[in-house]
Amino acid sequence: MAEFSTYRRVGSRELMQWYMEYNRKYFGGRLPTRTVVVKFVRTVDGNRRFLGHCRAYEKDGSVFIRISATLASMRAVARMTLIHEMTHAYLDLWRQPGKRPDRNPHGRWFVEAVRKHAAAGAFDGLW
Ligand SMILES: [Zn+2]
Repeated sequence: MAEFSTYRRVGSRELMQWYMEYNRKYFGGRLPTRTVVVKFVRTVDGNRRFLGHCRAYEKDGSVFIRISATLASMRAVARMTLIHEMTHAYLDLWRQPGKRPDRNPHGRWFVEAVRKHAAAGAFDGLW
């Protein structure tokens, strides 16, 4: 049974708790824990079709993740979207020096990283 069956909406505080948990479990604690904002927003970049968005700044290592508030009652989707956006942040902040980023943000490196999370159990019980 997926988590869709629970109708309790989650808030930005829970998003932040999941972020901390996932950072520990699947990102080796390499994402920031202080210079980070994770929250639900009514529209993501003014676009209702976006589930989430991430901005990460190499300069100071700060991360801003926004998740569409339409997912607040779909915990499993919200969690998976959060992992998706955290993967963007990770690749932006930790890409190997000298290596150019994928032209496609969901290209080879992204797919490789998400598969690693899946193998580590990040999506167990969510899909
Ligand atoms: Zn993406």
